[in-house]
Amino acid sequence: MIYYKTDEEVELIRQSCLLVCKTLAHVASKIKPGVTGLALDKEAEALIRDHGAEPAFKGYRGFPGSLCISINEQVVHGIPSSIVFKEGDIVSIDCGTYINDFYGDSAYTFALGEISDEIMNLLETTNTSLYKGIESAVHGKRIGDIGFEIQNYCEKQHKYGVVRELVGHGIGRSLHEAPEVPNYGKRGRGPLMKSGLVIAIEPMINLGTKDVKQLNDGWTVVSKDATPSAHYEHTICVRKGKADILSDHALIEAEIAKNANVREVRVKTEELANV
Ligand code: MG
Ligand code: MG
Repeated sequence: MIYYKTDEEVELIRQSCLLVCKTLAHVASKIKPGVTGLALDKEAEALIRDHGAEPAFKGYRGFPGSLCISINEQVVHGIPSSIVFKEGDIVSIDCGTYINDFYGDSAYTFALGEISDEIMNLLETTNTSLYKGIESAVHGKRIGDIGFEIQNYCEKQHKYGVVRELVGHGIGRSLHEAPEVPNYGKRGRGPLMKSGLVIAIEPMINLGTKDVKQLNDGWTVVSKDATPSAHYEHTICVRKGKADILSDHALIEAEIAKNANVREVRVKTEELANV
């Protein structure tokens, strides 16, 4: 069952998404080599609760954190831990909030200090692929059009591995609603998108092959070949002509610009048509 949102509901989801990005922006101001995921998680939870919201991930199927923190070869769903971040790490941080009956969801991968050109390209390509997907999230197109763009860009052009086991999703009164939004697919296939459909688009891209496995902690997903993996996510509303991006990575990027320990991850806007 796909729920199309009213304009009022879309604004409530936007408020939740903006709190997510405010939280990720706070994380962006604090993250650096020497910090732990547990410390960031504690601050994120406090900030979310200070706004009268609830961290959406905490307690979700028993997940212990308010953030998912996935380091290097960890793809998604990493549990905040006492592991100390080090120079050269890439750290994917996924955040969700629940406020005024609606969920928000967004994720960003941070580059700590000196990162090889090879890994920076993985980050910039994954970040750019998110917007490639968003360009296709318009009224009258199909879900497969989004996955096609992401897969074509990351897999065909850049030879990266596009994770198949985890996908984007509808979002609203539930954290995960229909439809599923895979990062692979065929043009013109899958559910038809209409104005008012709110979905989270979230490419998970490996430097090596697409294959992943889950660790014994029951949560953390890692690349099978142990190569680094990147994850960027926006919640968007499908509209005629152009999607409305409800989350706002500019808040995060403004803090990265002020944090000497974190490198800017560029979106290759020259490779986008109209975002
Ligand atoms: Mg997320
Ligand atoms: Mg999501």
